[in-house]
Amino acid sequence: MATEAPSCHGGRETMLDAARTAGKSEQVARMLADYPRGPHDQPQSMCPAFGSLRVGLRMRRTATILSGSACCVYGLTFTSHFYGAKRTVGYVPFNSESLVTGKLFEDIREAVHETARPADYDTVIVINLCVPTASGVPLDLLPKQIDGVRIIGIDVPGFGVPTHAEAKDVLAGAMLRYARNEAEAGPVARPRNLVDGEPTVALIGELFPADPMGVAALLAPMGLAVAPQTPAREWRDLYAALDCEVAAAVHPFYTASIREFRAAGRPVVGSGPVGVEGTEAWLNAIGRAAGLPQSRIDLALGKALPAIRAALDAAPIKARVTVSGYEGSELLVARLLVEAGAEVPYVGTACPRTEWSEADRAWLASRGTHVQYRASLEQDMAAMLEVKPDLALGTTPLVQKAKEQGIPALYFTNMVSARPLFGPAGAGSMAAIVAAQTRGRERFGRMVSFFEGVGTPDGAGYGFREKPVDPPGFRDRQRKLRAAKAKAEEAVGT
Ligand code: SF4
Repeated sequence: MATEAPSCHGGRETMLDAARTAGKSEQVARMLADYPRGPHDQPQSMCPAFGSLRVGLRMRRTATILSGSACCVYGLTFTSHFYGAKRTVGYVPFNSESLVTGKLFEDIREAVHETARPADYDTVIVINLCVPTASGVPLDLLPKQIDGVRIIGIDVPGFGVPTHAEAKDVLAGAMLRYARNEAEAGPVARPRNLVDGEPTVALIGELFPADPMGVAALLAPMGLAVAPQTPAREWRDLYAALDCEVAAAVHPFYTASIREFRAAGRPVVGSGPVGVEGTEAWLNAIGRAAGLPQSRIDLALGKALPAIRAALDAAPIKARVTVSGYEGSELLVARLLVEAGAEVPYVGTACPRTEWSEADRAWLASRGTHVQYRASLEQDMAAMLEVKPDLALGTTPLVQKAKEQGIPALYFTNMVSARPLFGPAGAGSMAAIVAAQTRGRERFGRMVSFFEGVGTPDGAGYGFREKPVDPPGFRDRQRKLRAAKAKAEEAVGT
């Protein structure tokens, strides 16, 4: 009898066991250590592999190939194009036979050889989704490079990587590791815009595009510049990032990437320059990690802090706000809100607790904020319903729930992450969105009473003139039919 291919509905433990049995014990152990699990055993947001796919698609001269079930690949390609990817997503399909006979690996290898054209690409990324990972498709046996094109294979299953945020780290870390090994082996390509002898700070995390410029302005008085960000936008940027003086884990969940910066001998600093107190602590930590004298650090503080103070004072926030998200910047956003005057009783992040957000957690906890790591949607909703905020920042289902309750709410990813967060620009932008949304509270209340009962299960949708009603006697007839069927089945069984 042919071996059954594991189903992607098999449950987390079944899939993990299958992956271990299929020869991926080492990869499974690394995933579980890097991305500790939360209260739920399956991702509660989009497919985690989207994080890796997006990192690959945003990088110049990089081809990205998926190996997984067609339904997963359909969803991932749809989402990537929805978010504006202008690149082709490669796909190597499989069926039960090609999976269990090892033909899928042969097909992947063939696809990689066809794709690895040095004129077009620096790198080819292959991503194993749930089923190929659980089946042990051995991407580590792919050639490491073909005609100078680097080949990187990674496993990003939903049963091992809990959020798409952490999946970004899986690929970013794999690329940093490859680049570090290259740099250690001999000369590498010169990064664009490299200024010789200029010490830099490498920011870790996908940031709003204006933020690195804002951070550069904060660092300039100390004589520090900003290195290319992680995840990188082109291969040679990886060398420049690794060549930094200090790595800044602004998004605190990049465990694999931070491991590479540390292996390259770089000190790593957590938190970020938010608000007056956050910026003061961060600039001090960066300056000290770079070995600068306090007088140089004080120059930067003297320039940054008054400007941030002025921006916060110009737009104070008077509202109770809850914050939930899966971006990794939730604690920083909450700090900024608190410094601006908001009451923030709850922050939930789908990301895990790490040492890089510890300063933010302690700062928030000392001001009465409950910080929930690996927050589930149920925890986020319960917190929002309990504290009844003037504004809930959260994920799509949380925002929907808030609106049903007449609570003004904003989608974290599109509205909060799409604004500057750091320095004076961040301090100014947050107040504007909070004020605009909380002004609408009364309008939300009117909407709830207007739509009362519409869209809830029994009265969902619209009739020709009014809310649909059940045909007379329909439910009664159905109940009797179900009872008769159950009785008949019972009779057969005895
Ligand atoms: S790859 Fe895994 S987590 Fe992603 S959609 Fe498919 S089954 Fe779900």
